[in-house]
Amino acid sequence: MVLYTAGRTSTYPDDPVKHGLRAFFLGGGDEVGNVGCILEDSTGTRLLIDYGLAPTRPPKYPAECPSVEHAIMTHSHIDHIGMAPWLVGHLGTRLHGSPLTASLSEVMWRDTYKVSKIEGYPLAWDRRDLEEALQAWTTHQIGEWFEIGEWKCRFHRAGHIPGAVMIEIETPEMRVLWTGDMDTRASPNVLGALPVECDVLFLEGTYGDRIHPPRVEEEERLVSKVLEIVDRGGTALIPSFASGRGQDVLRILKREAPNLEAHYHGMGTRVTQLWMEHPESIREPKQLAKMWRWCRRVSGKSDRRKALDADVIVSTSGMLDGGPAIWYANRLRHHSANAILLTGYQAEGSGGRLLLDERKLRIFGNVTPIDLEVEQFSLSNHAGQAELVTFARACAPRHVVIFHADEEGREALSTQFAGEMKVHLPVNRTELLLK
Ligand SMILES: [Zn+2]
Repeated sequence: MVLYTAGRTSTYPDDPVKHGLRAFFLGGGDEVGNVGCILEDSTGTRLLIDYGLAPTRPPKYPAECPSVEHAIMTHSHIDHIGMAPWLVGHLGTRLHGSPLTASLSEVMWRDTYKVSKIEGYPLAWDRRDLEEALQAWTTHQIGEWFEIGEWKCRFHRAGHIPGAVMIEIETPEMRVLWTGDMDTRASPNVLGALPVECDVLFLEGTYGDRIHPPRVEEEERLVSKVLEIVDRGGTALIPSFASGRGQDVLRILKREAPNLEAHYHGMGTRVTQLWMEHPESIREPKQLAKMWRWCRRVSGKSDRRKALDADVIVSTSGMLDGGPAIWYANRLRHHSANAILLTGYQAEGSGGRLLLDERKLRIFGNVTPIDLEVEQFSLSNHAGQAELVTFARACAPRHVVIFHADEEGREALSTQFAGEMKVHLPVNRTELLLK
């Protein structure tokens, strides 16, 4: 299946920008994930920020990108970088990012490629594009200015996951801040983002309508639940994303209950090694290394069986849509002392959502009842409403563009900012002009 015909299916406006800044969302404007946005001004400077795909079933892709020389990737999550190999292979675009994001992109792209083959879903890029993309990175340290056309750019730490950045852009007319996915709160592995004064703020709004419970309380609740399960002779299965949540959970457990026997199984093994090669992006990198020595990494089949007797198994995928977590769930479901602890948002249609709503899981093609205790914890690495509002006020922009949000998130944040700054709610494939 051909998804795009390079240069023929793009709906990006042809006319040059007279003044101000044009923002054109290819995806992620009025939805969560699937991000891609073109920024352009009257100097003719054009920049793409992120180019992802939403790993739903089937995946969702952003609109075709027009010709663009430079793209900045905010972080390594697939809904932000998943389509970058297409850019490089078809448009010859240069990719900019933090050194850690560039390193992690290889793991993420190879996994996406593998999954697309296994699941038989179409991918707009092939292996050759992937190899080219690995050579297309220019990396920049936090705080270091670099030029894109007539603009000056620099990265700021975004919280969220190691390597994630916010982008400050100085055009001849204005100062722009693009948050990417962000959190101002520190998490076990990253420090939080700090505000940057700007004229135009592009603010992610994933949790724009939600107030997070205090993180410390959620962490305590998770640890005491795990201890309760272990006391009754059970094993806690904690399905977690490979890049972020799994390592967060393990650091919390190591810190609060170091006597537990915890096993880790999944793609996060390679991710964690890359994190450790970039200590500049990690909060207390020595503690990460200690945690990594403390937990037992599962590699072979016999390790898997051993893990079934452990206190805790942290494994991918985070939404129970495949990965070793399914294999463990299938084995653990026969003993009611065991439990499944979900640590994040479970998307509509995901395995985790089915488990929460109906106590069932799709296991190797069969919808199977799961008679185990199931609990959900909120360990999100996105800012909640209170954090977003405080952050935006401290940036003191004239314009705020709320993206990467659903309708409820956008509405809630607009109400908060009304009268203080001009609020824009972008729509994909529709030009937004900021002056
Ligand atoms: Zn992200």
